[in-house]
Amino acid sequence: MEKFQLYIDGEFCDAEGGASFNSCDPSTDEPWAVMPAATMGDTDRAVKAAWAAFCEGEWPSLTATQRGKYLSKLADLVVRDAQIMAELETRDTGKIIRETSGMTAYASEYFRYYAGLADKIEGSTFQADKPTLEVFTKREPLGVVAAVVPWNSQLFLTAVKLGPALAAGNTVVLKASEDGPAPILHFAKLVHETGFPKGVVNIITGYGPECGAVLTAHSLVSRVAFTGGPETAKHVVRNSAENFALTTLELGGKSPVIVFPDANLESAANGVIAGIFGGTGQSCVAGSRLLLHNDIHDDFVARLAERAPKIKIGPPLDTKTEVGPLATKRQKDNIESIIADSVAAGATIVTGGGTPSGFNTGNYLEPTIISAPSPDVRCVAEECFGPVLSVLKFNDEDEAIRLANDTRYGFASGIFTSNITRAHRMIRKLRCGIVWVNTYRVVSPVVPFGGNKLTGHGREGGMDTVLDYTRTKSVWINTSDEPMADPFVMR
Ligand code: NAD
Repeated sequence: MEKFQLYIDGEFCDAEGGASFNSCDPSTDEPWAVMPAATMGDTDRAVKAAWAAFCEGEWPSLTATQRGKYLSKLADLVVRDAQIMAELETRDTGKIIRETSGMTAYASEYFRYYAGLADKIEGSTFQADKPTLEVFTKREPLGVVAAVVPWNSQLFLTAVKLGPALAAGNTVVLKASEDGPAPILHFAKLVHETGFPKGVVNIITGYGPECGAVLTAHSLVSRVAFTGGPETAKHVVRNSAENFALTTLELGGKSPVIVFPDANLESAANGVIAGIFGGTGQSCVAGSRLLLHNDIHDDFVARLAERAPKIKIGPPLDTKTEVGPLATKRQKDNIESIIADSVAAGATIVTGGGTPSGFNTGNYLEPTIISAPSPDVRCVAEECFGPVLSVLKFNDEDEAIRLANDTRYGFASGIFTSNITRAHRMIRKLRCGIVWVNTYRVVSPVVPFGGNKLTGHGREGGMDTVLDYTRTKSVWINTSDEPMADPFVMR
């Protein structure tokens, strides 16, 4: 079996006492690699190394332009090793190679974007109401950033955290998920090759309640950038009461895709399929609730029901595969229980719903479409994080908005219509962080990404993010040659 290591204070190492766990290939359920399980002691050591690198040595004395050059070099190395990391991610999480190849290479664009922003972080000057005083602010890094990522889209989620954190001059401890950490542990080699001063980037993996909890509650951590599920996020928020760390939370979603009769229906069907079956539905922005106007409901569902069974299910490393296995057995069991409860509550399976024939080993699930009687059945209300689409009907724009906003989440929404005024009315009323009109699941480093409500708070991507990794220092300079007056002498 392959063996991976932690990366702490510029060195590769095993976890204390050799603590480790096996990673399983989700397409076979067989162990294929041994991963280090960072202990509380390893995590503490990583944070202390990051704090030392923040306070002394080369990193704090670099110019912002020099920091940017490190990120540019890292971007080049990500491009060089993109295929290696894509294959590791596919092997370790079951995400199909078509997706991991594209996304891993594209993650380099995020590092490049933040490389360019490093020396564009600016303070302000002020017209203060004190005539002899010059007043300005400087933007300074926060300190040690704890970046915690889940198992899906790991390099992308790493880039949106490390890019702005390092551009702004912070140091980082990155915790990869205990499910599928292989690509991030390879990424540690690229960090090392880039030549960052030791301790600037530390990369660990291990169990959440042990190393995740110690990391996010650590007294030397100033900022937590967390992506994962809402229940875990509640622990992270409680942990931040220990260190008052600034926190961004990028959590789950139950995003609606709304299709009106005036839409190009072929394009809308492609958007819906891409939104829910792309990435095997294991995407935080999955378009998992389809809202169809009454006039097109039956025909549109029939169109999808014809397409879904033709999607090619297969081993994730096969470039022809369109839907692969789910990342863990735990996840498959959870989705099957959501489907069973929904059917018991009156939902109808239009297509799919079970294990595809010939795929009895591994965590495979058929692309599934469920017609739901109301918004409160589990398949509509809960994030499945798999290839499961729930369909509801609406009569007019107001009802579409009501249904779209009737969720505890607030990540993305899709609208398919050829009526631009309607699109603008809908955009105004949708309570979410992203709206895609006549498209779906598009991202770019230059555009903020994130959501509202249970999807969390804060944004990743875009120029403002880099400021989220800084704080201001206000500076007051007295320009008068007059000595300061004695404060205790009345005039
Ligand atoms: P998860 O919440 O189980 O785990 C996420 C990370 O948190 C892991 O690294 C885990 O080890 C760590 N963790 C667990 N317990 C912890 C604790 N007590 N303290 C600190 N860290 C702890 O999530 P998952 O199952 O790996 O990922 C799926 C979830 O992530 C879904 O809800 C999905 O929607 C969400 N997600 C969101 C985005 C986004 O950008 N908003 C992107 C991808 C995934």
